[in-house]
Amino acid sequence: MFQLFLPLNFLGFVYREIKASMANIERMIDLLDEETAVADSGQDVLKVTQGKVELRDLNFGYRTERTILKGLNLILEPGKTLAVVGGSGAGKSTITKLLFRFYDPQDGGIFIDGQNIRNVPQKSLRERLGIVPQDTVLFNDTLRYNLLYARPEATEAELLEVVRMASLDGLLKLCPEGLDTLVGERGLKLSGGEKQRIAIARMLLKRPDIMVFDEATSSLDSHTERAIMGEIRRVAKGHTALIIAHRLSTIVDADQIAVLQDGEVLEQGTHADLLVRKGAYASLWQAQQSQSVIVAEQIEEGGDA
Ligand code: ATP
Repeated sequence: MFQLFLPLNFLGFVYREIKASMANIERMIDLLDEETAVADSGQDVLKVTQGKVELRDLNFGYRTERTILKGLNLILEPGKTLAVVGGSGAGKSTITKLLFRFYDPQDGGIFIDGQNIRNVPQKSLRERLGIVPQDTVLFNDTLRYNLLYARPEATEAELLEVVRMASLDGLLKLCPEGLDTLVGERGLKLSGGEKQRIAIARMLLKRPDIMVFDEATSSLDSHTERAIMGEIRRVAKGHTALIIAHRLSTIVDADQIAVLQDGEVLEQGTHADLLVRKGAYASLWQAQQSQSVIVAEQIEEGGDA
């Protein structure tokens, strides 16, 4: 048995090593792929004064034969939250990719405080944007490294402040070596919720002018998801923020909600406005409410058993 265990154990080790390096390699390839899609020819550094973002008449397709965004117009007002909701494949995450200029639209443009992002160096654009992605990639390094990566010159006090703001202090107390604890494949394994909190802390440390949250869907249980969304709401308040949302319950108090369907804005307004309209948003809301009741009943039944 022992003879069998040793090679299996070794194979397990090799597998974990390969998987860990793959995560970093995949990320690098992703970035390289995305980087090659546009030419970085901008000259004038982006100047963010208010943080107003305008998506004007955007037409975009990854391939010429299929248009994903069709004449899209959206405005993110300074200091306000805009939530974009819609079915799978509607084009929500594509908006984020265009904002970070991984791709350029075929027509129209994205303007930040009046400057077309096509005309500014990518570095100066991405310095002003922060994102909490759906899946956070962690480096196989310490918690400190994973956070400081956003702004290496941040002080210890600033680091601890964002840890608190992202509700990571509970995790930190459990870490034997505090911020110097190794995380990732070779260290402490973190849950989906903890990884999301690291992404939030990272973004806060960067202090971007415009925040983007691509809400995680499958990786979190509903309790953690609610907690994280509460934190996102708190963090986004008073900042120019774009939230790509899958669950409507988490964005009810957004300043504006845009419903995207097949790359077009179908409806836009506040949660209350859209319910009164009794359109697509109201139907989606109704459907998600009934679904939550069924899930709650199932949990209750499970609890009784
Ligand atoms: P979800 O809620 O499922 O994340 P979404 O609304 O964010 O969906 P997008 O990810 O923006 O949708 O995708 C819009 C469409 O573009 C989809 O049909 C998708 O398959 C396609 N798409 C996304 N990325 C690429 C890519 N790199 N190359 C080609 N097509 C893509």
